[in-house]
Amino acid sequence: MTKHKKLTRAGGVTIPKDMRAATGIMPGIAVDLNETEDGILISKHVPTCCFCGSPERVISFFDSEICADCVEVMNEEVQKLAE
Ligand SMILES: [Zn+2]
Repeated sequence: MTKHKKLTRAGGVTIPKDMRAATGIMPGIAVDLNETEDGILISKHVPTCCFCGSPERVISFFDSEICADCVEVMNEEVQKLAE
């Protein structure tokens, strides 16, 4: 499905309601914008760990996304400081 939209002065674009419904990209959710050879691809944001890039067991912490495995490694390092 291709639709024609104009950008706002601020660079925004409204995604048509039927496209939002079909893709699950609803108001308020985060999206990823990726430059491709054909233009810009908008997709649902998939949280990934800021350290290792894993999308598994990711939590948000102070505006960063971190996986449970990296949290465990950090916790081990903190335990070493206490020794
Ligand atoms: Zn990680």
